[in-house]
Amino acid sequence: MSGASADLVAALAALRAEAEALIGAATERDVLQRLRTDYLGRKAGRVTAILRDLTSLDIEARKAVGQAANEAKAAIEALLETADAALAARAHASSADLTMPARQAFRGALHPVTLVVDEICDIFRDLGFTRVTGPEAETEQYNFTKLNFPPGHPALDLHDTMYLGPGTLLRTHTSPVQVRTLEAYPPPIRVTIPGLCYRRDAWDASHAPVFSQIEGLVVDEGVSFVDLKAAIGYFARRFFAPGVKVRFRPSFFPFTEPSAEVDVECQICHGAGCPVCKGTGWSEIMGAGMVDPAVFEACGVDAERFTGYAFGMGPGRIAMQRYGLSDIRMLYDADVRLHAQFVEAR
Ligand SMILES: [Zn+2]
Repeated sequence: MSGASADLVAALAALRAEAEALIGAATERDVLQRLRTDYLGRKAGRVTAILRDLTSLDIEARKAVGQAANEAKAAIEALLETADAALAARAHASSADLTMPARQAFRGALHPVTLVVDEICDIFRDLGFTRVTGPEAETEQYNFTKLNFPPGHPALDLHDTMYLGPGTLLRTHTSPVQVRTLEAYPPPIRVTIPGLCYRRDAWDASHAPVFSQIEGLVVDEGVSFVDLKAAIGYFARRFFAPGVKVRFRPSFFPFTEPSAEVDVECQICHGAGCPVCKGTGWSEIMGAGMVDPAVFEACGVDAERFTGYAFGMGPGRIAMQRYGLSDIRMLYDADVRLHAQFVEAR
């Protein structure tokens, strides 16, 4: 080994020892960063400089000095890594408050109205119903005219309906999807139609300007009111309680004739009368009836050959009853403390 290369190897050993001492003494990560630049920096690093000058040495010396320089570089690199990891861990430990409660992971949950809609659709699916949806922005034709609403009907009023423009509006019920279904598919038809509806209602404990609805429609040859009563009775016994009492009261809707309001025995007092059922012993769950032949005619269905029934209910109100919510606005607040309760509900 020539004198020059021996000097360089000795210098590298000294650099390595010096770096080792400085790294061992460092108490800040910034200091380590600066030491890395001093010894290994690409431009002015002291070990790097020796490696760069190797080309000026003869081949023997180049080999000896190159090996020593690479070893020094690797050793300093390793010391810097270890020291940096130790300082990082110490900084983390001193900033963490180990007495703090662990943060709970929130798994996410389905909205109570979604749970009710899914359950209703599942029950009717067992009776052969398919779930369908339609647009929330509708035309007056689909929302009112084809459903047999006469031109002067109060529901068409600007005070009740949110119009988007002349003849277009945000649907006030899911019934336009009945029209779309009748126009798109020939009978037999069995569908459930869940979706959001819009009305000009002010917010209060029991009203919201946007709410969910679910309707059902059955059209076939020979469908009668008996079939309607059987299907609703089956649904009520599955959804509310086996053996629950159901009653039909005469009512009126433009698109069904005859029409009925359907009540089930109050699930809180079981018919005795309580504040929730306002002392009647019954709670109203839906409107229903036989599809008016005028609707069939407007949708191109042969009213001589086919009959059908339809029903509609409010999953929001049903969810309030089922989960004991006193204010409908709770369904819109997106408060995770409410939703988190339904994580295990399914
Ligand atoms: Zn009651």
